[in-house]
Amino acid sequence: MANFADDPAGERDLLLEAQRIASMGSWMVEVGTGRAYLSDGLRVLCSIPRDITVSVEDLVALVHPDDMVAIGEFRDRLHSESVLVELDVHDQTGDRAFLVRARAELDESGGLRAVHGTVQDVTKIRALERQLSQDGRLFRETQRVARMGTWEWDTETDECLWSSMLYELAGIEPGTKITYQDYLRIVHPDDRAWVDQRWRELAATRVPVECEHRVVRPDGKRRVFRVRGEAADSERSAMIGTCQDVTEQRSTETRMQRSSKRFTDLVAITPVGIALFDDAERVVDANDALCSLLGMDLDKLRGMTADQITHPDDRANRRGRAGAAFHGGQRVLVTAAGKPVYCELNATVSVTDEGRRFWLVVFADVTDRRRHAERLRHQATHDELTGLPGRAAVKELLASLLGGRDYERIALLFCDVDNFKRVNDSLGHDVGDELITALARRLERGLPPSCTVARMSGDEYVVICADVDEAGGVEVLANQVASLLRTAVPVRGQLLRVSASIGAAVPSGPETTGADLLRYADAAMFTAKARGTGRVSLASDALIASANSQMLLEGQLREAIANDQLVLHYQPVVGPDGTVLSAEALVRWPHPERGLLMPGEFLPVAEQGDLQGDLDRWVLRTALTEAAEWPQLSGGVLGGGVAIAVNLAGLVPGDPEFVDTVAAVVAETGIAWDRVILELVETSLIDLPSRSREAMAELVERGVRFAVDDFGTGYSSLARLKELPAQIIKIDRRFVSGVATDASDFAVARALVDMARAMGRSCVAEGVENATQFHVLRGVGVDAYQGWLLSRPIPARDFREVLKLGPVHIPSGA
Ligand code: C2E
Ligand code: CA
Ligand code: CA
Repeated sequence: MANFADDPAGERDLLLEAQRIASMGSWMVEVGTGRAYLSDGLRVLCSIPRDITVSVEDLVALVHPDDMVAIGEFRDRLHSESVLVELDVHDQTGDRAFLVRARAELDESGGLRAVHGTVQDVTKIRALERQLSQDGRLFRETQRVARMGTWEWDTETDECLWSSMLYELAGIEPGTKITYQDYLRIVHPDDRAWVDQRWRELAATRVPVECEHRVVRPDGKRRVFRVRGEAADSERSAMIGTCQDVTEQRSTETRMQRSSKRFTDLVAITPVGIALFDDAERVVDANDALCSLLGMDLDKLRGMTADQITHPDDRANRRGRAGAAFHGGQRVLVTAAGKPVYCELNATVSVTDEGRRFWLVVFADVTDRRRHAERLRHQATHDELTGLPGRAAVKELLASLLGGRDYERIALLFCDVDNFKRVNDSLGHDVGDELITALARRLERGLPPSCTVARMSGDEYVVICADVDEAGGVEVLANQVASLLRTAVPVRGQLLRVSASIGAAVPSGPETTGADLLRYADAAMFTAKARGTGRVSLASDALIASANSQMLLEGQLREAIANDQLVLHYQPVVGPDGTVLSAEALVRWPHPERGLLMPGEFLPVAEQGDLQGDLDRWVLRTALTEAAEWPQLSGGVLGGGVAIAVNLAGLVPGDPEFVDTVAAVVAETGIAWDRVILELVETSLIDLPSRSREAMAELVERGVRFAVDDFGTGYSSLARLKELPAQIIKIDRRFVSGVATDASDFAVARALVDMARAMGRSCVAEGVENATQFHVLRGVGVDAYQGWLLSRPIPARDFREVLKLGPVHIPSGA
């Protein structure tokens, strides 16, 4: 621009001033020479002094290297067209930005003559633009993330301006012209009226509005919008606001509401009892399961205390335990009908919105589990053969029944099968077992549900009746049991006729224990048995009194044995010429209140109290000790040679300690082995296992003799005499008493003596009371004699005197 330099100074200054204000400069490049002419403004912008001439390349060198490609394109365009070309460049530091505008000046032939242009410092503008675009992007991002759009509503024209996010939320093509009515059209029909009203109020009052309404988008999708609006400050008619899609949040809330509803439903249908208790332990709410568990409806249950729904027995357990409310563990609840329900508890304490404490308690019914545990226990407490409760279970059941309120209704029956031993002995144990089982089933099936059948031992059953009134009274029940047990049982192809003796007892008062009841019934059973087979006997007051005195006696006997308070009397056994061959030790009990008690009075007590073994050991030791001290006559024969006979009932050859016990006592007392006679009844001598026979043989080897006591009273026939491992046969008093008067007794006595002699056994006649008996027996060849005719049983001291007197005087026959 040649005229540039020739411009009048005033105009030029003005132009420069304008360029300075606009941070602008102008330039011209002469293509032919490559010279560049810069305005002062541009020189200031580019810090080029006025006196320096610059070429176009000097100017290009000022530009940032990154912009070189753009510069190249810029130049190319200037060569080809004469339009205005624009280019953004940066200085060497990159900090400042310039907008370069240029236009080509062509010559007549269309060649490039010169280029005119301007340079403007756009650093600030570009920064501002960048900020704006960043803000816009951020704004859009924020809207997208928050699913929030913005809007503007001109209340006069009803025209709306929506942000692109709002278009997206509404499901409307961005840029579509929107009016307030268009907006109302997407509001859910049910919400439209009140939403419209709210916005009209905003327009009228300019009080900010916030609301949530449903939206049905043009594509049919349903959403929930949360919309806020307020008046824009600037114009009276403009309202602005935001709109957020809160569908997800709302549905989370509905989901929570739904799941809490589901929780309530679950509580309602759950098979476990659940209740809510307030701070005072009163039921506030309960589910169906708990209601049906307790057999009450909710109305009744509500307001009841934890204590009130607890079974009285369990209530007593908990009394006095501070804060015992709900401490987990077990609790026995009670149904409306009074039945116990065994529950396992789980409780949590919580606080209501108002700050009051409440308990959420879960009651799991463990009655079944308990039943199972009981079944296991059943196996431990029940008889293996019959599956009936055993002795331990009887004790337990009686204890629980007698501890309850209805003890007066309890009855106990003691049943003993008649002659069972004979069945067992003659037909074998297997048949016996079958019989026992068959009778057990008959009892179980035939008795009312209030009755429990148990097996005590061997052939003894016990029937425990919890409600004897229901069974028609104790006598009716006892007779019913007797008739159930009076039957013919098919065993091994044959019909076995059986019967049982029944003893019945009822508690005499609240202090009656299970053991008492068993004793009374047992005693009554013995009374029944004494009257014959298949009889029934009720424990009378007298029987109970005697049973009780027996009980007392048992304790005293135990003491007496332990404290050496028994005494022995001795009854001489003499040969045909009156020589004392041996003496039988017979026990007596000098009772402090009742005087001298005979064995018949206290041996049953010893048997009942399982004291027979102790008694025998005491007698054995005492008798052998005393016998060892008997005086030796001059010549040293008689006293020292007189044998001592001891009765054994508890200590028998079947006992594993039999030989050891006897041997120990013999050794201890120092008595000669051949002076010891052991008297046993035939039942404890038959069917002995070989081990016991060997044990006896061992003692016999050393000199001990065994005597069969009371021979003829047991079941053994004379033929079995051979099998009895005994050297002495004691003919029972029954045969002796009739021997002079009864032909058959005489025959038995004679046969016995003959057989005994044939088998190398000696015979002793018991209970010889008169001379006739003595002489008849001496006539058949009896070896020794015992009885009042010769001597009563006498105290140890007296017996020693008898020994000193020599042979006993035998009266001649009348
Ligand atoms: P037992 O073994 O048959 O003893 C003989 C019994 O007959 C004794 O009765 C005796 O006093 C009695 N007696 C003796 N001579 C006559 C007589 O001429 N006429 C009559 N009617 N009776 C006579 P006791 O002392 O009362 O003993 C009864 C039973 O008690 C004994 O019968 C025996 O089985 C048992 N006993 C006695 N002492 C003991 C003992 O120390 N241990 C054991 N286990 N049982 C004993
Ligand atoms: Ca005897
Ligand atoms: Ca006897």
